Amino acid sequence: MNSEQAAQWMRRTAKKLVEHKDELSKLDQFVGDGDHGVNMERGFRAVVERLDDWRELPLSQLMQKIGSALVSNVGGAAGPLYGTAFMRLGAAWKDERQADGPAWMSGMTKAVEGIAQRGKAQAGDGTLLDVWSPVAATLDENEPDWKKVEEIAKKGMDETEDMVVKKGRGALLGEKSVGHLDPGAVSSFYLFQALAKTMNE
Ligand code: ADP
Ligand code: MG
Ligand code: MG
Repeated sequence: MNSEQAAQWMRRTAKKLVEHKDELSKLDQFVGDGDHGVNMERGFRAVVERLDDWRELPLSQLMQKIGSALVSNVGGAAGPLYGTAFMRLGAAWKDERQADGPAWMSGMTKAVEGIAQRGKAQAGDGTLLDVWSPVAATLDENEPDWKKVEEIAKKGMDETEDMVVKKGRGALLGEKSVGHLDPGAVSSFYLFQALAKTMNE
């Protein structure tokens, strides 16, 4: 992935999040406070609005900029988690203009560690980490198989439906959180779906 493809990834993600804003907020009404669609739309809109200013940046710095824009503009619990993920990608790809197979593997490993630290969460807690963690685990030194990445992200998202949420607002519901997809897992699926589409064109 180069900076141009990263920008395309962000535009495509923003478009998906706008299309699915109501769905995401509705899911968050079951297990949270009903604002996840609004938060994500606001955050990715802010990123897309600044892409032109960031056009000349190497990929690593672009990821850092995206991360800090997400922290400031998504807000809530999800902002620092998404933001940390992108900042960790940027740090792992220090000074790189392109991300290849090994870069994706190390970058996603660092991103997942960052989310886990920030959220004090682990895979199985019924959060966005249940998408990010299996995606990271499927990567190896080879160029990522993007179709497989999308499938794994979808599976991770679907599995949150049967989980007792252990972190974030949903955890307040205990067993009653079972039977609903986690909103952050769903928005993360859209992010990886947009990535797969971008990298496969
Ligand atoms: P808020 O809960 O502050 O309103 P959002 O609704 O935007 O924030 O985001 C909620 C999502 O954030 C959840 O669906 C979940 O995926 C994720 N999340 C919340 N808290 C944590 C946490 N401690 N660890 C990992 N993910 C979390
Ligand atoms: Mg919320
Ligand atoms: Mg909120």
